[in-house]
Amino acid sequence: MSKTIAVLGATGSVGSQALDVARARGYKIDFISAGRNSALAERIAREFRPMAVAMADIRAANELKFRLRDTQVKVLAATNGICDGIRESRAETVVNAILGSAGLYPTIATIESGKRLALANKESLVVAGRQVMSLAEKLGAQIIPVDSEHSAIFQSLRAGKPSEIKRLILTASGGPFYGMSRAELEGLTLRETLAHPTWKMGKKITVDSATLMNKGFEIIEAAHLFSVSPDKIDVIIHRESILHSAVEYVDNSMIGEFSLPDMRMCVQYAVDYPDRCESASEPLDLFSLGRMTFAKPDTAAFPLLDMAKRAFFAGGACPAVLNAADEVAVDAFLNEKIRFADIPKVVIGTYEMMGGARFATTLEDILALDKEARKIALSYIK
Ligand code: NDP
Repeated sequence: MSKTIAVLGATGSVGSQALDVARARGYKIDFISAGRNSALAERIAREFRPMAVAMADIRAANELKFRLRDTQVKVLAATNGICDGIRESRAETVVNAILGSAGLYPTIATIESGKRLALANKESLVVAGRQVMSLAEKLGAQIIPVDSEHSAIFQSLRAGKPSEIKRLILTASGGPFYGMSRAELEGLTLRETLAHPTWKMGKKITVDSATLMNKGFEIIEAAHLFSVSPDKIDVIIHRESILHSAVEYVDNSMIGEFSLPDMRMCVQYAVDYPDRCESASEPLDLFSLGRMTFAKPDTAAFPLLDMAKRAFFAGGACPAVLNAADEVAVDAFLNEKIRFADIPKVVIGTYEMMGGARFATTLEDILALDKEARKIALSYIK
């Protein structure tokens, strides 16, 4: 029987690849959401005929209502509209590919509605990992990671028991500036930063890959998803992006997942799990690959990697503050208001100013500190 899914962030990089998987696998899509791009949301709605579409931006929702006035598709608005759409949807799985901390409430709504969460939005776990995971545990909800590294670990964990894990190996391509010193990073341009060597992704995550902030967030994501301390999570630079991550077990066996870099495989695995089905993605040819390389990350030139571990151990709202400062800094960089080398300065500067963030315990407190961090990061930039 054909599966029904909902795709949040359907106009984005992961979202559009989720739509590709739906086309290839014949899934029905009964709900989509987007931010502002009402023209693309209209095209997707006309192709898939979902029950409803939600736009985070209210003006974009009004535009979409007008565009779809000849159809039965319901148009919802704002984060509340996205969460209502999730609750009303008949999908078995919700793919959350929203960008940034805006994905948090939709993650919570998916868990509360008893649907499987196929999670690309790592920020849900960076901002409120403890709250999200304990809610999922309480309600018995399934969270299947879509992030390629976490999908690889999730798959590798089928080879052993949680008590048998020795450490997790999180691979990183190293981004376009691998091997450069701190001084060499000073003069880099936006165009150079957006030229990722192996993955084609949205702009925000491409910049985060270049600063290694993305890998830092992935440490936090893995720590929550798999209940493994960041002390037992090693980051290894692997330029070819073929081994997507691995688990080392107590007997020193290392089990990993190898494939060409293609997010469609991760989306498909999360929707079809526990089954493996034929995929439209290209197979990996080990002979043409020839060899794979591994190296240690340079945490002096790329300090945001270690900042993530620090924020995780500090707890409370510290990871949320780190994420908020990074969202503001990367936005300023994408708008050419700051230079590449300024991103870690803004993030670390903001983080250091918010030492009290570690005492936050509730989601409300965390989100209030997230807002405050954004203000501080903006004033830091000015
Ligand atoms: P994109 O920027 O390409 O797409 C983001 C999507 O989110 C778009 O549909 C956008 O809508 C929507 N969106 C933006 N702001 C909001 C908001 N405030 N409320 C609701 N929806 C919003 O991002 P990516 O696809 O690259 O990344 C999405 C998530 O997946 C991120 O968390 C990222 O870390 C993660 N991820 C991405 C990978 C990749 O290969 N790209 C790999 C692994 C993880 P619109 O376009 O209409 O504004």
